[in-house]
Amino acid sequence: MNYDYDLIIIGSGPAGFSAAMQSTKFGKKVLLVEADEKHLGGAWINAGTVPSKALREAAASIHKYNLLFSENDNKKVYHRYKMSELLRFKDKVVNYENSEVKRNLIKNEVHTARGFGKLSDPHTVEVADHLGKVKKYSSRYILVATGSTAQKPTTFEIDNKIVVDNQSLVTMSHVPRRLVIIGGGVNAIEYATIFAALGTKVNMLSSREDYLPFLDSEIKTELNRMLERHRLIIHTGVHVDGVALNPLRNCTEVKFHDIETKEPRVIETEQVIHFGIRMPNSTGLGLEELGIKTDEKGYVEVNDHYQTSVESVYAAGDIVGFPGLASASFTQGRIACRHMVGKDDIKLTGAHPFGIYSIPEISSIGITEDEAKATGVNYAIGRAYYKELTKSSVSNTDIGILKLIIDPESMLLLGVHIIGESACDIIHIGQSMMKNKVPVNYLIDNILNYPTFSEAYRVAAFNAINRVNKSGLKYKQENS
Ligand SMILES: Cc1cc2nc3c(=O)[nH]c(=O)nc-3n(C[C@H](O)[C@H](O)[C@H](O)COP(=O)(O)OP(=O)(O)OC[C@H]3O[C@@H](n4cnc5c(N)ncnc54)[C@H](O)[C@@H]3O)c2cc1C
Repeated sequence: MNYDYDLIIIGSGPAGFSAAMQSTKFGKKVLLVEADEKHLGGAWINAGTVPSKALREAAASIHKYNLLFSENDNKKVYHRYKMSELLRFKDKVVNYENSEVKRNLIKNEVHTARGFGKLSDPHTVEVADHLGKVKKYSSRYILVATGSTAQKPTTFEIDNKIVVDNQSLVTMSHVPRRLVIIGGGVNAIEYATIFAALGTKVNMLSSREDYLPFLDSEIKTELNRMLERHRLIIHTGVHVDGVALNPLRNCTEVKFHDIETKEPRVIETEQVIHFGIRMPNSTGLGLEELGIKTDEKGYVEVNDHYQTSVESVYAAGDIVGFPGLASASFTQGRIACRHMVGKDDIKLTGAHPFGIYSIPEISSIGITEDEAKATGVNYAIGRAYYKELTKSSVSNTDIGILKLIIDPESMLLLGVHIIGESACDIIHIGQSMMKNKVPVNYLIDNILNYPTFSEAYRVAAFNAINRVNKSGLKYKQENS
């Protein structure tokens, strides 16, 4: 059978983009369908990863500069820097990343079609453009990479002025003096620390009993210390009843109550950011009609190769659910395309790292000490405090811990947990060691650049080895 394309991809986020790149490397003819009239790159470039990280970098740089050179003057950060300056930097980054996506698609001869894509049979996609004109394209394979969208609040409106979301927060005219962040996930914490670093008094409201419950408790304690320093308050286990303007007091009031005690509370604020729970963009895609299995929330069910219950249709990225990250979406899209050409050489097995771009950063891979305790695994700990590192002194940062969880018999890493500058970068040292089964002795028997934050691994490895020796367990290194 002759098709117009070898692969049609619906959605140009990281899952769709990486799939397009991988398929063209196999010499395949690819069409990328994107509903957004103006931009390619999805939430990754336009509303999520890249803009939030650009703003974070700007805030972190200002915060660092302030700590280094302006500690003793009473000016708040928001007196010194304008929101428009931060947004200008963010725009520069987003525009560049946008142009890079376009450049790569053109270079690799990927065709694009603007409009809402819908599967009409296992090999056909109908694309309705913004004027309602529909075009049909056929293909051997189809990849659904339509991402996710934040759920809207039910007890108040997002007016995109006082109450904004992750997309419209880029229209904020100034750094607010007071801010309420509604949401308890990673994005909420990231933005809470971004604004706190800019001098804003931040209150965060989360319906969950605990925030970031998956963190190692020692890392969480260090994070709490940082939040206290920033006067950032997190209210957990609360339900938001409404957000309304109080003209008499010329402020916005956020009304909420404690879910357990029902005690009502009010916080006065200047601005509110809402981070809704992410839900899959699976409506109107024709999935049900084709018998493509989804779960009760609408996430598409896939096998290890990101293939759906229909042989010619694959799905990758946020649409397939956990972990819902750009980092994972890139690899998932690639795995799907490799499977389409008969290659099933990449398997996402074992532990994967995650990064939280708060100020300071947090990153983790493998089991936490709490999990080790709960499951009765034999383990030893190695710690390095950032304040022990020369790199921290020269970087004027003292908050941070790198914690290794090791198997005292094999001296292999079971987990790495880091809070502190560059945590999301240096986690990959631990990741490589875990994947390649390298004992921690590697870290003390080799030369590492100095001064670096990576040196924390060396300090923590010495700490772990000393503990193992003291506890009478001989570690397996002949010449130690
Ligand atoms: C504030 C925020 C910060 C984040 N920070 C990080 C981070 O630091 N690191 C990280 O790894 N992840 C981060 N993420 C998550 C990351 O953005 C997503 O996991 C990632 O973008 C998902 O990629 P995707 O390819 O599945 O879909 P998306 O990037 O969501 O792209 C989907 C695309 O499909 C299009 N589309 C939808 N339906 C159709 C249709 N029917 N027809 C045609 N086109 C359609 C959409 O317009 C969109 O362009 C963040 C998310 C948010 C919201």
